[in-house]
Amino acid sequence: MSSRNMDRTTGLPKDGPDVKDGGSAEAAVAAAAAAVPPTPGPPAGAGGASSLLNFARPTQWVPLPSKGQYYPQGHPWHNKEQVEIKFMTAKEEDILASRSLLQKGIAIDRMLQSVFVDRVDTKSLLVGDKNALMVAARVTGYGSKYPVSYKCPHCGTQAELEFDLDTFENKTADEDWCQKHNVRMNSNGYFITLPKTKVTANIRFLTGLDEEKLDKLAANKKKAKLGESKMIDQFRLMIVDLNGETDRGIISQFCENMPAGDSRVLRKSFMEIRPDLDTSFNFVCQECYQESEGDMPITAQFFWPDD
Ligand SMILES: [Zn+2]
Repeated sequence: MSSRNMDRTTGLPKDGPDVKDGGSAEAAVAAAAAAVPPTPGPPAGAGGASSLLNFARPTQWVPLPSKGQYYPQGHPWHNKEQVEIKFMTAKEEDILASRSLLQKGIAIDRMLQSVFVDRVDTKSLLVGDKNALMVAARVTGYGSKYPVSYKCPHCGTQAELEFDLDTFENKTADEDWCQKHNVRMNSNGYFITLPKTKVTANIRFLTGLDEEKLDKLAANKKKAKLGESKMIDQFRLMIVDLNGETDRGIISQFCENMPAGDSRVLRKSFMEIRPDLDTSFNFVCQECYQESEGDMPITAQFFWPDD
């Protein structure tokens, strides 16, 4: 069973060594913000004869990892298995190159908003769906080849990898896995029974808005020089109830005091069942011959390729 041990965008701590090199989207955006030169204005006199504009902007259907299953009724993507996106154009390139958007950390969200055919708020989307859409949009703009420098976690040797973004597939909960690990699913969501306390946690998957909350919380804690509590904060958001108890104060206290064995199972189960694009990969180091496993890092090369 593969252990998807790092959440690229929500920043759940991973088990393996070397968290720093995981490469979060935020880190990539920050790096890009520093590297992007001032944006030139749009070319003067673009347009011209109307015949120049007689082309349809191509679109593409992208399968959602969630299959639209976890969106409430009334959400535009409720039960939608796939959604339509427009190919990236110069407009989206401008968004991705905007210093102010990059500094605010909202460039990728704005870019996605701009390619969606449906009117849908990026913040309402599940993190896994956003990941799949981000990769699909990148392919329409810059192709599917994505070069990455990867550091062997065992010996530190730097290797040059190239991902083919077209080869990634969506993953959802594996029924056999759930059965083996005391995870049940019904129309009210997923239920994980924790091994030490025997408490059953009903959980939900996180959205872009949740991610934003977690980022703000982490930033505020850093400012106040408080210790990090990313994992506990994430648990607080994803737990809907514990044995049917929905009181947020009680849930919060449980999250803080839960035995390590339970928190480990909760985190692992969450990673395993959440719908997402599977970007995990295996790597065998040519220097030390040891194997490692990781998730495709998002670096500046993803949306700001060199050539
Ligand atoms: Zn190595």
